[in-house]
Amino acid sequence: MHHFDTITTLKSRLEKKEISSVELTKHFLDRIENSDLNSYITVTKDIALEQARLADKKIAAGNATALTGIPLAQKDIFCTDGIKTSCGSKMLDKFIAPYDAAIIERFKADGAVMLGKTNMDEFAMGSSNETSFYGAVKNPWDKARVPGGSSGGSAAAVAAGLAVASTGTDTGGSIRQPASYCNLTGLKPTYGRISRYGMIAFASSLDHAGPMARTAEDCALLLNSMAGFDERDSTSVDCPVPNYLTSLSTSLKGKKIGLPKEFFTEGLDPTVSAIIMETAKEYEKLGATLHDISLPNISLSIPAYYVIAPAEASSNLSRYDGVRYGHRCDNPKNLEDLYKRSRAEGFGMEVKRRIMMGTFVLSSESFDAYYLKAQKVRHLIAHDFQEAFKAVDTILSPSTTSTAFKIAEKIDDPISMYLSDLYTAGANLAGLPASSAPAGFINGLPIGFQLITNHFTEDLLLNFMHQYQQATDWHTKVPEGL
Ligand code: GLN
Repeated sequence: MHHFDTITTLKSRLEKKEISSVELTKHFLDRIENSDLNSYITVTKDIALEQARLADKKIAAGNATALTGIPLAQKDIFCTDGIKTSCGSKMLDKFIAPYDAAIIERFKADGAVMLGKTNMDEFAMGSSNETSFYGAVKNPWDKARVPGGSSGGSAAAVAAGLAVASTGTDTGGSIRQPASYCNLTGLKPTYGRISRYGMIAFASSLDHAGPMARTAEDCALLLNSMAGFDERDSTSVDCPVPNYLTSLSTSLKGKKIGLPKEFFTEGLDPTVSAIIMETAKEYEKLGATLHDISLPNISLSIPAYYVIAPAEASSNLSRYDGVRYGHRCDNPKNLEDLYKRSRAEGFGMEVKRRIMMGTFVLSSESFDAYYLKAQKVRHLIAHDFQEAFKAVDTILSPSTTSTAFKIAEKIDDPISMYLSDLYTAGANLAGLPASSAPAGFINGLPIGFQLITNHFTEDLLLNFMHQYQQATDWHTKVPEGL
Protein backbone atom coordinates (compact mmCIF):
# COMPACT_ATOMS: atom_id res chain seq x y z
CA MET A 1 0.00 0.00 0.00
CA HIS A 2 1.17 3.47 -0.90
CA HIS A 3 4.89 2.66 -1.15
CA PHE A 4 5.03 3.65 -4.81
CA ASP A 5 2.96 6.79 -4.34
CA THR A 6 4.52 10.15 -5.09
CA ILE A 7 5.07 12.84 -2.47
CA THR A 8 2.28 14.81 -4.09
CA THR A 9 -0.21 11.95 -3.72
CA LEU A 10 0.86 11.15 -0.16
CA LYS A 11 0.61 14.78 0.90
CA SER A 12 -3.04 14.81 -0.03
CA ARG A 13 -3.66 11.37 1.56
CA LEU A 14 -2.08 12.62 4.79
CA GLU A 15 -4.02 15.85 4.74
CA LYS A 16 -7.31 14.02 4.09
CA LYS A 17 -6.39 11.68 7.00
CA GLU A 18 -6.69 8.61 4.75
CA ILE A 19 -3.44 7.51 6.32
CA SER A 20 -1.26 8.75 9.17
CA SER A 21 2.44 9.48 8.94
CA VAL A 22 3.07 6.89 11.68
CA GLU A 23 1.30 4.19 9.61
CA LEU A 24 3.17 5.21 6.51
CA THR A 25 6.52 5.33 8.30
CA LYS A 26 5.94 1.91 9.91
CA HIS A 27 5.07 0.48 6.50
CA PHE A 28 8.34 1.73 5.02
CA LEU A 29 10.36 0.56 8.05
CA ASP A 30 8.86 -2.95 7.65
CA ARG A 31 9.71 -3.00 3.99
CA ILE A 32 13.27 -1.88 4.70
CA GLU A 33 13.68 -4.63 7.29
CA ASN A 34 12.54 -7.26 4.80
CA SER A 35 14.62 -6.00 1.90
CA ASP A 36 17.86 -7.68 0.75
CA LEU A 37 19.03 -4.83 -1.51
CA ASN A 38 21.51 -3.39 1.05
CA SER A 39 20.29 0.11 0.19
CA TYR A 40 20.54 1.51 3.74
CA ILE A 41 23.65 1.75 5.94
CA THR A 42 21.70 3.01 8.96
CA VAL A 43 17.97 2.81 9.61
CA THR A 44 16.87 5.52 12.06
CA LYS A 45 13.72 3.76 13.25
CA ASP A 46 13.13 5.55 16.55
CA ILE A 47 13.82 8.99 15.13
CA ALA A 48 11.56 8.29 12.15
CA LEU A 49 8.66 7.20 14.37
CA GLU A 50 9.11 10.20 16.64
CA GLN A 51 9.16 12.58 13.67
CA ALA A 52 6.09 10.84 12.25
CA ARG A 53 4.18 11.22 15.54
CA LEU A 54 5.04 14.90 15.57
CA ALA A 55 3.97 15.24 11.94
CA ASP A 56 0.59 13.65 12.68
CA LYS A 57 0.06 16.18 15.45
CA LYS A 58 0.90 19.04 13.13
CA ILE A 59 -1.47 17.71 10.46
CA ALA A 60 -4.25 17.28 13.02
CA ALA A 61 -3.73 20.87 14.15
CA GLY A 62 -3.87 22.08 10.55
CA ASN A 63 -0.22 23.21 10.64
CA ALA A 64 1.23 20.97 7.95
CA THR A 65 4.18 22.38 6.00
CA ALA A 66 5.60 21.36 2.59
CA LEU A 67 6.88 17.89 3.54
CA THR A 68 5.12 17.16 6.82
CA GLY A 69 5.04 13.42 7.48
CA ILE A 70 6.74 12.36 4.23
CA PRO A 71 9.31 9.54 4.79
CA LEU A 72 12.58 10.30 3.00
CA ALA A 73 15.97 8.59 2.82
CA GLN A 74 19.19 10.62 3.10
CA LYS A 75 22.45 9.73 1.41
CA ASP A 76 25.03 8.87 4.07
CA ILE A 77 27.23 11.74 2.87
CA PHE A 78 25.08 14.32 4.72
CA CYS A 79 25.94 14.95 8.36
CA THR A 80 23.08 14.08 10.69
CA ASP A 81 23.30 15.29 14.28
CA GLY A 82 23.89 12.39 16.68
CA ILE A 83 23.65 9.78 13.94
CA LYS A 84 26.38 7.77 12.25
CA THR A 85 27.53 9.46 9.03
CA SER A 86 29.91 7.08 7.27
CA CYS A 87 30.20 8.32 3.67
CA GLY A 88 30.40 4.62 2.77
CA SER A 89 33.87 4.39 4.29
CA LYS A 90 35.58 2.40 7.05
CA MET A 91 37.33 5.71 7.79
CA LEU A 92 34.04 7.12 9.15
CA ASP A 93 32.43 3.86 10.28
CA LYS A 94 32.34 5.07 13.88
CA PHE A 95 31.79 8.76 13.14
CA ILE A 96 28.73 10.29 14.81
CA ALA A 97 28.12 13.69 13.24
CA PRO A 98 27.89 16.52 15.78
CA TYR A 99 25.60 18.68 13.62
CA ASP A 100 23.10 18.56 10.76
CA ALA A 101 23.94 19.38 7.16
CA ALA A 102 22.04 22.40 5.80
CA ILE A 103 19.64 20.25 3.78
CA ILE A 104 18.89 18.05 6.79
CA GLU A 105 18.01 21.17 8.80
CA ARG A 106 15.76 22.30 5.98
CA PHE A 107 13.98 18.94 5.71
CA LYS A 108 13.43 18.95 9.48
CA ALA A 109 12.00 22.46 9.31
CA ASP A 110 9.62 21.35 6.55
CA GLY A 111 8.43 18.37 8.59
CA ALA A 112 9.94 15.46 6.64
CA VAL A 113 10.56 12.10 8.32
CA MET A 114 14.04 10.55 8.00
CA LEU A 115 13.93 6.77 7.52
CA GLY A 116 17.69 6.37 7.49
CA LYS A 117 20.99 6.89 5.73
CA THR A 118 21.55 5.25 2.37
CA ASN A 119 24.45 3.22 1.05
CA MET A 120 26.86 4.84 -1.38
CA ASP A 121 30.23 4.43 -3.04
CA GLU A 122 33.04 5.24 -0.63
CA PHE A 123 33.37 9.05 -0.43
CA ALA A 124 31.04 9.15 -3.48
CA MET A 125 33.76 7.77 -5.75
CA GLY A 126 32.25 5.32 -8.17
CA SER A 127 29.52 4.55 -10.66
CA SER A 128 28.22 1.26 -9.30
CA ASN A 129 27.97 1.46 -5.50
CA GLU A 130 30.45 -1.42 -5.32
CA THR A 131 33.20 0.62 -3.61
CA SER A 132 31.16 0.99 -0.39
CA PHE A 133 32.74 -0.39 2.80
CA TYR A 134 29.24 -1.77 3.50
CA GLY A 135 29.09 -3.85 0.32
CA ALA A 136 27.39 -3.55 -3.05
CA VAL A 137 23.77 -2.45 -3.44
CA LYS A 138 21.49 -4.49 -5.70
CA ASN A 139 19.34 -2.97 -8.41
CA PRO A 140 15.66 -3.78 -7.71
CA TRP A 141 15.04 -4.19 -11.46
CA ASP A 142 17.56 -7.05 -11.56
CA LYS A 143 19.38 -8.02 -8.40
CA ALA A 144 22.40 -9.27 -10.34
CA ARG A 145 22.98 -5.69 -11.53
CA VAL A 146 24.29 -2.49 -9.97
CA PRO A 147 21.92 0.39 -9.17
CA GLY A 148 24.56 2.85 -10.40
CA GLY A 149 26.63 5.10 -8.22
CA SER A 150 27.59 6.83 -6.19
CA SER A 151 24.04 7.50 -4.90
CA GLY A 152 23.12 3.85 -5.51
CA GLY A 153 21.47 3.23 -2.14
CA SER A 154 19.28 6.31 -2.53
CA ALA A 155 18.21 5.17 -6.01
CA ALA A 156 17.57 1.52 -5.11
CA ALA A 157 15.60 2.53 -2.00
CA VAL A 158 13.15 4.73 -3.93
CA ALA A 159 12.91 2.32 -6.89
CA ALA A 160 12.05 -0.56 -4.54
CA GLY A 161 9.47 1.39 -2.52
CA LEU A 162 11.69 1.67 0.57
CA ALA A 163 11.35 5.48 0.69
CA VAL A 164 9.10 8.00 -1.03
CA ALA A 165 12.09 9.97 -2.29
CA SER A 166 15.72 10.50 -1.36
CA THR A 167 18.71 12.75 -1.64
CA GLY A 168 21.84 12.20 -3.66
CA THR A 169 25.01 14.01 -4.53
CA ASP A 170 26.41 14.47 -7.99
CA THR A 171 30.08 15.27 -8.64
CA GLY A 172 30.27 13.76 -12.12
CA GLY A 173 26.88 12.10 -12.53
CA SER A 174 26.03 10.35 -9.27
CA ILE A 175 22.41 11.49 -9.13
CA ARG A 176 21.63 11.14 -12.83
CA GLN A 177 23.35 7.82 -13.58
CA PRO A 178 21.62 5.86 -10.78
CA ALA A 179 18.34 7.61 -11.64
CA SER A 180 18.76 6.30 -15.19
CA TYR A 181 19.53 2.74 -14.02
CA CYS A 182 16.62 2.63 -11.54
CA ASN A 183 13.83 4.45 -13.45
CA LEU A 184 13.79 7.60 -11.32
CA THR A 185 13.87 11.33 -11.88
CA GLY A 186 17.03 12.91 -10.48
CA LEU A 187 18.08 16.53 -10.49
CA LYS A 188 21.49 18.10 -10.11
CA PRO A 189 20.86 21.82 -9.71
CA THR A 190 23.14 24.74 -10.55
CA TYR A 191 26.38 24.90 -8.56
CA GLY A 192 25.65 27.12 -5.54
CA ARG A 193 21.87 26.56 -5.57
CA ILE A 194 21.83 24.09 -2.66
CA SER A 195 24.14 24.56 0.32
CA ARG A 196 26.98 22.08 0.69
CA TYR A 197 27.28 22.83 4.41
CA GLY A 198 27.58 19.49 6.21
CA MET A 199 27.91 17.49 3.00
CA ILE A 200 31.15 15.52 3.18
CA ALA A 201 33.49 16.90 0.52
CA PHE A 202 34.75 14.84 -2.41
CA ALA A 203 35.67 17.44 -5.08
CA SER A 204 34.40 20.77 -3.79
CA SER A 205 34.14 22.64 -7.09
CA LEU A 206 32.12 19.81 -8.65
CA ASP A 207 30.02 18.51 -5.71
CA HIS A 208 26.26 19.15 -5.85
CA ALA A 209 23.38 17.93 -3.68
CA GLY A 210 20.03 17.16 -5.25
CA PRO A 211 16.75 15.22 -5.08
CA MET A 212 15.95 11.73 -6.41
CA ALA A 213 12.26 10.93 -6.78
CA ARG A 214 9.59 9.29 -8.92
CA THR A 215 8.55 12.43 -10.77
CA ALA A 216 9.74 15.89 -11.76
CA GLU A 217 6.92 17.32 -9.65
CA ASP A 218 8.34 15.57 -6.56
CA CYS A 219 11.81 16.88 -7.45
CA ALA A 220 10.32 20.38 -7.60
CA LEU A 221 8.80 19.95 -4.15
CA LEU A 222 12.10 18.70 -2.74
CA LEU A 223 14.09 21.44 -4.45
CA ASN A 224 11.76 24.03 -2.91
CA SER A 225 12.88 22.70 0.43
CA MET A 226 16.59 22.21 -0.36
CA ALA A 227 17.46 25.34 -2.36
CA GLY A 228 18.56 28.67 -0.96
CA PHE A 229 21.41 30.83 0.19
CA ASP A 230 23.53 29.69 3.13
CA GLU A 231 26.34 31.87 4.39
CA ARG A 232 28.06 28.81 5.86
CA ASP A 233 28.87 27.61 2.32
CA SER A 234 31.17 30.16 0.64
CA THR A 235 30.04 29.02 -2.83
CA SER A 236 26.33 29.28 -2.04
CA VAL A 237 24.71 31.85 -4.32
CA ASP A 238 22.44 34.55 -2.93
CA CYS A 239 19.75 34.76 -5.60
CA PRO A 240 15.99 34.34 -5.23
CA VAL A 241 14.53 30.83 -5.17
CA PRO A 242 11.32 30.57 -7.18
CA ASN A 243 8.53 28.19 -6.23
CA TYR A 244 9.49 25.36 -8.59
CA LEU A 245 5.91 24.04 -8.71
CA THR A 246 4.48 27.13 -10.42
CA SER A 247 6.24 26.74 -13.77
CA LEU A 248 5.65 23.00 -14.17
CA SER A 249 2.57 23.36 -16.36
CA THR A 250 3.90 26.02 -18.71
CA SER A 251 3.53 25.00 -22.37
CA LEU A 252 6.68 23.96 -24.24
CA LYS A 253 5.41 25.44 -27.49
CA GLY A 254 8.27 27.10 -29.34
CA LYS A 255 10.95 25.93 -26.89
CA LYS A 256 14.17 24.84 -28.55
CA ILE A 257 15.94 21.56 -27.82
CA GLY A 258 19.54 21.06 -28.92
CA LEU A 259 20.98 17.68 -29.85
CA PRO A 260 24.77 17.83 -29.66
CA LYS A 261 26.29 16.00 -32.61
CA GLU A 262 29.18 14.87 -30.39
CA PHE A 263 26.75 12.79 -28.31
CA PHE A 264 24.99 11.16 -31.24
CA THR A 265 27.94 9.45 -32.89
CA GLU A 266 28.48 5.90 -34.16
CA GLY A 267 29.76 5.01 -30.70
CA LEU A 268 26.28 5.43 -29.25
CA ASP A 269 24.47 2.11 -28.79
CA PRO A 270 21.67 2.02 -31.42
CA THR A 271 19.10 0.80 -28.88
CA VAL A 272 19.90 3.76 -26.61
CA SER A 273 19.89 6.14 -29.56
CA ALA A 274 16.46 4.88 -30.68
CA ILE A 275 15.00 5.57 -27.23
CA ILE A 276 16.42 9.09 -27.08
CA MET A 277 15.08 9.85 -30.57
CA GLU A 278 11.65 8.73 -29.34
CA THR A 279 12.03 11.18 -26.44
CA ALA A 280 12.90 13.93 -28.92
CA LYS A 281 9.78 13.12 -30.98
CA GLU A 282 7.63 13.27 -27.88
CA TYR A 283 8.97 16.76 -27.19
CA GLU A 284 8.14 17.76 -30.76
CA LYS A 285 4.56 16.64 -30.14
CA LEU A 286 4.57 18.91 -27.10
CA GLY A 287 5.44 21.85 -29.34
CA ALA A 288 9.21 22.05 -28.93
CA THR A 289 11.56 22.18 -31.91
CA LEU A 290 14.74 20.13 -32.41
CA HIS A 291 18.07 21.62 -33.44
CA ASP A 292 21.49 20.16 -34.21
CA ILE A 293 24.14 21.78 -32.08
CA SER A 294 27.79 21.24 -31.32
CA LEU A 295 29.73 21.09 -28.05
CA PRO A 296 33.19 20.89 -29.64
CA ASN A 297 35.16 20.14 -26.47
CA ILE A 298 32.70 17.86 -24.69
CA SER A 299 34.70 14.71 -25.50
CA LEU A 300 37.38 16.09 -23.15
CA SER A 301 35.05 16.18 -20.17
CA ILE A 302 36.00 12.70 -18.88
CA PRO A 303 39.78 13.34 -19.01
CA ALA A 304 39.34 16.80 -17.45
CA TYR A 305 37.00 15.47 -14.76
CA TYR A 306 39.35 12.61 -13.84
CA VAL A 307 42.18 15.09 -13.29
CA ILE A 308 40.26 17.79 -11.40
CA ALA A 309 38.07 15.51 -9.22
CA PRO A 310 40.98 13.39 -7.89
CA ALA A 311 43.09 16.55 -7.37
CA GLU A 312 40.40 18.11 -5.18
CA ALA A 313 39.72 14.77 -3.49
CA SER A 314 43.38 14.30 -2.55
CA SER A 315 43.31 17.70 -0.88
CA ASN A 316 39.91 17.24 0.83
CA LEU A 317 40.73 13.77 2.12
CA SER A 318 44.01 14.85 3.70
CA ARG A 319 41.94 15.76 6.79
CA TYR A 320 41.53 12.05 7.60
CA ASP A 321 44.87 11.65 9.35
CA GLY A 322 43.92 9.51 12.35
CA VAL A 323 44.42 12.48 14.66
CA ARG A 324 41.26 14.55 14.61
CA TYR A 325 38.40 12.21 13.76
CA GLY A 326 37.76 9.06 11.78
CA HIS A 327 39.63 5.76 11.91
CA ARG A 328 42.81 5.58 13.99
CA CYS A 329 45.13 2.55 13.85
CA ASP A 330 45.98 0.61 17.01
CA ASN A 331 49.25 1.26 18.88
CA PRO A 332 51.00 3.69 16.51
CA LYS A 333 54.79 3.65 16.87
CA ASN A 334 55.13 7.33 16.00
CA LEU A 335 53.29 10.10 14.14
CA GLU A 336 54.27 8.87 10.69
CA ASP A 337 53.14 5.35 11.51
CA LEU A 338 49.84 6.80 12.79
CA TYR A 339 49.21 8.67 9.53
CA LYS A 340 50.26 5.81 7.31
CA ARG A 341 48.42 2.98 8.98
CA SER A 342 45.27 4.96 9.81
CA ARG A 343 44.90 5.97 6.15
CA ALA A 344 45.99 2.58 4.78
CA GLU A 345 43.41 0.81 6.96
CA GLY A 346 40.61 3.38 6.69
CA PHE A 347 40.45 3.95 2.94
CA GLY A 348 39.41 1.44 0.28
CA MET A 349 41.05 0.75 -3.08
CA GLU A 350 39.22 3.30 -5.23
CA VAL A 351 39.74 6.10 -2.75
CA LYS A 352 43.46 5.30 -2.60
CA ARG A 353 43.63 5.29 -6.40
CA ARG A 354 42.03 8.76 -6.50
CA ILE A 355 44.33 10.14 -3.78
CA MET A 356 47.35 8.88 -5.69
CA MET A 357 46.15 10.30 -9.02
CA GLY A 358 45.26 13.60 -7.38
CA THR A 359 48.55 13.91 -5.53
CA PHE A 360 50.38 13.16 -8.77
CA VAL A 361 48.57 15.79 -10.89
CA LEU A 362 49.10 18.41 -8.19
CA SER A 363 52.82 17.68 -7.77
CA SER A 364 55.13 20.46 -8.94
CA GLU A 365 56.42 18.43 -11.94
CA SER A 366 52.92 17.59 -13.23
CA PHE A 367 50.83 20.58 -12.20
CA ASP A 368 51.09 22.48 -15.51
CA ALA A 369 50.81 19.43 -17.71
CA TYR A 370 47.72 17.97 -16.03
CA TYR A 371 45.93 20.11 -13.47
CA LEU A 372 46.32 23.48 -15.17
CA LYS A 373 45.56 21.96 -18.58
CA ALA A 374 42.42 20.32 -17.19
CA GLN A 375 41.26 23.65 -15.74
CA LYS A 376 41.70 25.26 -19.16
CA VAL A 377 39.70 22.47 -20.78
CA ARG A 378 37.02 22.97 -18.13
CA HIS A 379 36.79 26.60 -19.18
CA LEU A 380 36.42 25.62 -22.85
CA ILE A 381 33.65 23.14 -22.04
CA ALA A 382 31.77 25.77 -20.01
CA HIS A 383 32.16 28.20 -22.92
CA ASP A 384 30.77 25.64 -25.40
CA PHE A 385 27.62 25.32 -23.29
CA GLN A 386 27.17 29.11 -23.19
CA GLU A 387 27.47 29.25 -26.99
CA ALA A 388 24.88 26.48 -27.28
CA PHE A 389 22.44 28.27 -24.97
CA LYS A 390 22.46 31.27 -27.31
CA ALA A 391 20.57 29.05 -29.76
CA VAL A 392 18.58 26.58 -27.64
CA ASP A 393 16.75 26.36 -24.29
CA THR A 394 17.90 22.90 -23.33
CA ILE A 395 20.29 20.15 -24.43
CA LEU A 396 19.05 16.56 -24.84
CA SER A 397 21.21 13.45 -24.56
CA PRO A 398 21.15 9.96 -23.11
CA SER A 399 21.94 9.94 -19.37
CA THR A 400 24.01 6.79 -19.60
CA THR A 401 25.74 4.77 -22.32
CA SER A 402 23.73 1.64 -21.45
CA THR A 403 21.31 0.16 -18.95
CA ALA A 404 22.61 -1.08 -15.57
CA PHE A 405 25.59 -3.40 -15.86
CA LYS A 406 26.21 -6.58 -13.86
CA ILE A 407 27.71 -6.50 -10.36
CA ALA A 408 31.48 -7.21 -10.68
CA GLU A 409 31.46 -6.54 -14.45
CA LYS A 410 33.53 -3.35 -14.30
CA ILE A 411 35.05 -3.27 -10.85
CA ASP A 412 38.51 -4.35 -12.06
CA ASP A 413 38.42 -2.02 -15.06
CA PRO A 414 38.44 1.55 -13.71
CA ILE A 415 38.60 3.16 -17.16
CA SER A 416 35.42 1.50 -18.33
CA MET A 417 33.81 2.44 -14.99
CA TYR A 418 34.92 6.07 -15.48
CA LEU A 419 33.34 6.15 -18.95
CA SER A 420 29.91 5.74 -17.31
CA ASP A 421 30.05 9.53 -16.78
CA LEU A 422 30.37 10.32 -20.49
CA TYR A 423 27.13 12.31 -20.75
CA THR A 424 26.96 13.66 -17.22
CA ALA A 425 30.36 15.08 -16.19
CA GLY A 426 30.14 18.09 -18.55
CA ALA A 427 27.30 19.66 -16.55
CA ASN A 428 29.37 19.38 -13.35
CA LEU A 429 32.41 20.97 -14.96
CA ALA A 430 30.20 23.86 -16.14
CA GLY A 431 28.05 24.00 -12.96
CA LEU A 432 24.85 23.70 -15.01
CA PRO A 433 21.53 22.23 -13.86
CA ALA A 434 20.87 18.80 -15.36
CA SER A 435 18.28 16.13 -14.85
CA SER A 436 17.73 12.51 -15.80
CA ALA A 437 14.25 11.05 -16.15
CA PRO A 438 12.87 7.69 -17.35
CA ALA A 439 12.87 7.34 -21.16
CA GLY A 440 12.00 3.67 -21.68
CA PHE A 441 13.29 0.13 -21.33
CA ILE A 442 15.84 -2.08 -23.06
CA ASN A 443 15.42 -5.82 -22.36
CA GLY A 444 13.33 -5.05 -19.30
CA LEU A 445 15.85 -2.59 -17.81
CA PRO A 446 15.16 1.13 -17.46
CA ILE A 447 17.19 3.89 -19.07
CA GLY A 448 16.95 7.65 -18.73
CA PHE A 449 17.34 10.72 -20.90
CA GLN A 450 19.18 13.82 -19.76
CA LEU A 451 18.32 17.48 -20.20
CA ILE A 452 20.72 20.32 -19.34
CA THR A 453 19.65 23.98 -19.08
CA ASN A 454 21.44 27.24 -18.33
CA HIS A 455 22.50 28.37 -14.83
CA PHE A 456 19.68 28.92 -12.33
CA THR A 457 16.93 27.77 -14.71
CA GLU A 458 15.89 24.69 -12.71
CA ASP A 459 12.31 25.93 -13.15
CA LEU A 460 12.60 25.54 -16.93
CA LEU A 461 14.37 22.18 -16.58
CA LEU A 462 11.63 20.82 -14.29
CA ASN A 463 9.00 22.25 -16.63
CA PHE A 464 10.52 20.22 -19.53
CA MET A 465 10.62 17.06 -17.42
CA HIS A 466 7.10 17.48 -16.03
CA GLN A 467 5.56 18.09 -19.43
CA TYR A 468 7.18 14.91 -20.75
CA GLN A 469 5.84 12.99 -17.76
CA GLN A 470 2.34 14.31 -18.40
CA ALA A 471 2.52 12.79 -21.89
CA THR A 472 4.27 9.47 -21.11
CA ASP A 473 4.12 6.80 -18.41
CA TRP A 474 7.67 5.40 -18.24
CA HIS A 475 8.20 7.03 -14.85
CA THR A 476 5.21 5.16 -13.39
CA LYS A 477 6.71 1.71 -14.03
CA VAL A 478 7.98 -0.19 -11.01
CA PRO A 479 9.85 -3.49 -10.64
CA GLU A 480 7.61 -6.59 -10.67
CA GLY A 481 6.68 -8.27 -7.41
CA LEU A 482 7.43 -5.35 -5.16
N1 GLN B 1 31.37 8.29 -11.24
C1 GLN B 1 32.05 9.52 -10.94
C2 GLN B 1 33.23 9.25 -10.06
O1 GLN B 1 33.48 8.14 -9.75
C3 GLN B 1 31.10 10.49 -10.35
C4 GLN B 1 30.88 10.30 -8.91
C5 GLN B 1 29.94 11.31 -8.34
O2 GLN B 1 29.25 12.03 -9.05
N2 GLN B 1 29.96 11.41 -7.03
O3 GLN B 1 33.94 10.13 -9.67
